Amino acid sequence: MTDYFSEMGWRELRDGETPNQLLHLARLFRDFNMFQELNSLNGENLPPAASKAAIEALEQEVIETSGIQCPVCLKEHSIGEAVKKLPCAHKYHAECILPWLAKTNSCPLCRYELPTDDDDYEAWRKEKKRAKDREADIENLHNSMFS
Ligand SMILES: [Zn+2]
Ligand SMILES: [Zn+2]
Repeated sequence: MTDYFSEMGWRELRDGETPNQLLHLARLFRDFNMFQELNSLNGENLPPAASKAAIEALEQEVIETSGIQCPVCLKEHSIGEAVKKLPCAHKYHAECILPWLAKTNSCPLCRYELPTDDDDYEAWRKEKKRAKDREADIENLHNSMFS
């Protein structure tokens, strides 16, 4: 009897691997179009869609060696097949990655973020970096107030 996961072509994590929640979401989205439910999974809201310009600018690459797998559907790319290459160099079938990028802007494998058309998000992204720099200061302040 095959269980659900082997039926889906998933495998157990190897030693030292951590689960990649985003990649699982991308697979579920592709197979079941479950984005609505997944979007609120763990209360974690995903970033907005990649910008149209960024999607159009994605490089197309023709596969020249065997053994390269699409991370979303886990099918091996055939030689001569044209695939979409993200700026992080991860390669996907167009039909696997384009619906995903139309929903959220990051590579499911490594979370590399493409630009979005969302001004608020872009402003927040810049702010997030600055906030990180400030975090240490806030912690020091908190400690001096409450200890
Ligand atoms: Zn694929
Ligand atoms: Zn990537």
